[in-house]
Amino acid sequence: MSEFEVIVLGVGDTFSERHHGTSLLLCCEGFRLAIDCPDAYRGVLHDAAKRSGRELSLSDIDHVLITHVHGDHMNGLEGVAFYKHFADKKRVHLVTSPEVRATIWEQRLKASMGQLFDGQQYRVLGFGDYFEVTELSWAEPVVVGPFTVRARRTVHHVPTSALFIEAAGRSLGYSADTAFDAELIAFLEPADLIIHETNLGPAHTPYASLAALPAQLRARMRLIHYPDSFDTSSSCIQSLREGDLLVV
Ligand SMILES: [Zn+2]
Repeated sequence: MSEFEVIVLGVGDTFSERHHGTSLLLCCEGFRLAIDCPDAYRGVLHDAAKRSGRELSLSDIDHVLITHVHGDHMNGLEGVAFYKHFADKKRVHLVTSPEVRATIWEQRLKASMGQLFDGQQYRVLGFGDYFEVTELSWAEPVVVGPFTVRARRTVHHVPTSALFIEAAGRSLGYSADTAFDAELIAFLEPADLIIHETNLGPAHTPYASLAALPAQLRARMRLIHYPDSFDTSSSCIQSLREGDLLVV
């Protein structure tokens, strides 16, 4: 039976000098689902491939889930969609919330992707030329390949989806960007593996709030999206590193 694996692509925040932007690659039954898409995404894959020993090519990733529109989570999407358009001659399968779907083209991508020059003339392109979409639901699970995905809105500057993802009889909880939220912890808690963000400021989760959780919950939790200043060696919750390969 195929395992549910997570390859950690990036663990940093938007200000990091040391890390790629927080992003994951979920793998099961040969299917790959990217969670968020930071800048220079092919380089991000290249680095994670080196560290994890897995072959990671953008041509093998057709499904990208975007948790929210902050740049450190989606600045790579333009390049990925152009790569798919020009190199692979296909569209990106975008998985995202209705709120992100409503704004991602008009307010983020259209200015740079809405027009192409073919050597002779300019052509106007729309969202549907680059993307097909599966919308997440706040109420119902949504199936993406072997993954069943539940979304929960987090407490963040802009609409953001935390995720509870099941595959191969196992489950992953991912906080995405969020302020500390006890109800979100309860949503994530049943998962076999929980990946939670920590960072500074009112829209992120202080490490101390997670460190105060019960030990049996912390044992299943891993930290991501931490600032460069975060002391990973003295944390009582294990921090993820780029290239980590986790079996859920
Ligand atoms: Zn954010």
